[in-house]
Amino acid sequence: MSSSLEDAKISSENLANNLAGVKASIGAAEKEALRKKGAVNLVAVSKTHGPETIEDAIQAGQKIFGENRVQEAEAKWPDLKERNSDIRLHLIGPLQRNKAALAVSLFDVIETIDRLKLATALTRHMEEIGRRPNCFIQVNTGEESQKAGILPRETDAFIAKCRTDLNLPIVGLMCIPPVDEEPSLHFALLREIAERNELPELSMGMSADFETAIQFGATYVRVGTAIFGPRSDYWQSKVA
Ligand SMILES: *Cc1c(COP(=O)(O)O)cnc(C)c1O
Repeated sequence: MSSSLEDAKISSENLANNLAGVKASIGAAEKEALRKKGAVNLVAVSKTHGPETIEDAIQAGQKIFGENRVQEAEAKWPDLKERNSDIRLHLIGPLQRNKAALAVSLFDVIETIDRLKLATALTRHMEEIGRRPNCFIQVNTGEESQKAGILPRETDAFIAKCRTDLNLPIVGLMCIPPVDEEPSLHFALLREIAERNELPELSMGMSADFETAIQFGATYVRVGTAIFGPRSDYWQSKVA
């Protein structure tokens, strides 16, 4: 009897093909945008996918992964990281303050700093734990009420506070454009805010629009479906 997880699991061959295809598209987009080869890092978004699938991606050469839930990452990644020491794990989903310490231990990059209380908690936990994951500030470029992120007009002041008052290792900005809008305006806005604050990294672009994001200066693209296929709810239901 096969489980629904096995039914949903992508074959290692298809996964390797998808990964190679995404990497080729990134390379072509870098060239087209006159960016340096290798300027764009691929974050493989493995949320909802099980450890066997992730292991296939690691075997195919992928080293940077993204997860959107701390608990799901805690269930999946400690073993995988122990066996694969050069993995870099990014948190790309909302972070609650009561999970901030866990996030500092588990992740190498935290992309979703979106409020002062969280930033303050992260500073304290980094000091206590002795680990300083690089941080991105999430910007709500579409000013959507249901979406996390700092409003564009408040971002300069927030960056300054995180850097100066809290001494957080802020390296860049991250955004998720509104689904029904042209993403390039949002990518351009994010780049503009990063440039005037001298932040080198931009995390923007997903399966549907990563090539556009690369045109607008993305240094990290977060790609899930184009690599792993459709998401199952196996892991999310397991840790919910
Ligand atoms: C799920 C997710 C992605 C990947 O989305 P795809 O469309 O599957 O590539 C990227 N960024 C964030 C923040 C996500 O939650």
